[in-house]
Amino acid sequence: METTLRGVGVSHGVAIGEVRHMGTAVLEPPAKQIPPEDAEREQGRARQAVEAVSADLIARGNLAGGEAQAVLEAQAMMAQDPDLMADVDRRIAVGSSAERAVYDAFASYRALLAGAGEYLAGRVADLDDVRNRIVARLLGVPMPGVPDSDEPYVLIARDLAPADTALLDPTLVLGFVTEEGGPTSHSAILARALGVPAVVALAGAGELAEGTLIAVDGSTGEVFVKPSDEKRARLEAAAAERKAALAASSGPGATSDGHKVPLLANIGGPADVPAALEAGAEGVGLFRTEFLFLDDSKQAPSEEKQVEAYRKVLEAFPEGRVVVRVLDAGADKPLDFLTPGDEPNPALGVRGLRSLLDHPEVLRTQLTALAKAVAGLPVHLEVMAPMVADRIDAKAFADACRAAGLHAKYGAMVEIPSAALRARSILQEVEFLSLGTNDLAQYTFAADRQVGAVARLQDPWQPALLDLVALSAEAARSEGKSCGVCGEAASDPLLACVLTGLGVTSLSMGAASIPYVRATLAKYTLAQCERAAAAARATDTADEARVAARAVLSGE
Ligand code: PEP
Ligand code: MG
Repeated sequence: METTLRGVGVSHGVAIGEVRHMGTAVLEPPAKQIPPEDAEREQGRARQAVEAVSADLIARGNLAGGEAQAVLEAQAMMAQDPDLMADVDRRIAVGSSAERAVYDAFASYRALLAGAGEYLAGRVADLDDVRNRIVARLLGVPMPGVPDSDEPYVLIARDLAPADTALLDPTLVLGFVTEEGGPTSHSAILARALGVPAVVALAGAGELAEGTLIAVDGSTGEVFVKPSDEKRARLEAAAAERKAALAASSGPGATSDGHKVPLLANIGGPADVPAALEAGAEGVGLFRTEFLFLDDSKQAPSEEKQVEAYRKVLEAFPEGRVVVRVLDAGADKPLDFLTPGDEPNPALGVRGLRSLLDHPEVLRTQLTALAKAVAGLPVHLEVMAPMVADRIDAKAFADACRAAGLHAKYGAMVEIPSAALRARSILQEVEFLSLGTNDLAQYTFAADRQVGAVARLQDPWQPALLDLVALSAEAARSEGKSCGVCGEAASDPLLACVLTGLGVTSLSMGAASIPYVRATLAKYTLAQCERAAAAARATDTADEARVAARAVLSGE
């Protein structure tokens, strides 16, 4: 009998296929004692395994490129953490085998991370993956991860480690479903970058029997278990229709009556530029520069290295618009040289612009590198700060940009409710706003974006979030300035229409979503988008908002 499960759709498209589970079994090596004379040999084995796993992660990163590469390289660094390695050596010296020492050392590091605050939850999955890889290598058993199959399948996992997501073969992996992870988790962002349909935060996904036929709708978040022939045919027809609409759409983003809404790409570095160009991005709406800083957590990259990376991106969009976000470190993206290690609640601590104002030399180098990178190029450079709370923050950032002699527009991200509530005051200091709806949802609903259990509250259709978007857009309009969205909300085609109706002036998203958003936006007039926005805001829940907007746009 057909049943329907509902999670959170995070990457568009429909996938129909048989379930294959990710090999996530924890490999627990036996706790046998080794004789003291074997300790040195075991320490050598442990070191070799760590090095091999790091090299493998780096090689996977090189293959994958882009944001995936940065995440995998961060994992490789985790594997080689000197404190962790010292702990492994110590455990072997008192009688543990190499595999047991690695297993136990990672367990105590894991407990430390988990106890250090919820923001590290996302990192725990990465750490477990690294441990499994090293232990599997030492035991001489196959690496945990993507199943071996020659037939296409739908992948089910508790949470996907970046190492696996990065190497998913889209011709074999039709789509994926995870039990954990929110709509803004690393897995979701990487899935969109890959263009594979995906649903996250689906309770009970782990219980689906291997080989069961399921249909995954990455747009609605629905997963149909054992779908009827009729349902399959309907889903396949809808997917084909969407594909045809995509193929027919090209050019700049606009409503059917010609109201322009530039569609921009979110990128993590130069490696993401080709996909953005291929999707027809009109520029970059969010360049997450922190990926350049992940190589070395002890210091910032040199000015020269930064100039090189920025220039590559800026050159790719002659006459286009490129919005660079200055370093957003802290919380789920800690950097040793910037982030205080002892914060009780890092998501509410010194992160984003706050870190940069505490380390003005890092901000200065970044702004100077941008000024050098843009020299002589026709591109429209815009620079924005993450986590702006108030006018004082906005002024401090604008002052730093001016002091660096940067010829660009300066903007503020709206990620904290206070910034949306007082958007007009912030706009006295900067020239544009960009709504980071991922963090804005996190802070509006007090719901950690890494935690699947609170995914309901991170749903960007929440009417309270729509109210904050409307407030920001109205403030920008009354000041004659622009207000874009660069959070994941912009990648939902229906929501993109609602955001347009709320007065948002540009939409920035992972490149794979651009054709979907372009095609949907082109179907409706601005007045229809405005009516859909008003209908969504008049409801009390995210689901009602979605239904109300859909009803207006489909003329029901
Ligand atoms: C956001 O918070 O919406 C955003 C775009 O920034 P990030 O996802 O990088 O925190
Ligand atoms: Mg953010």
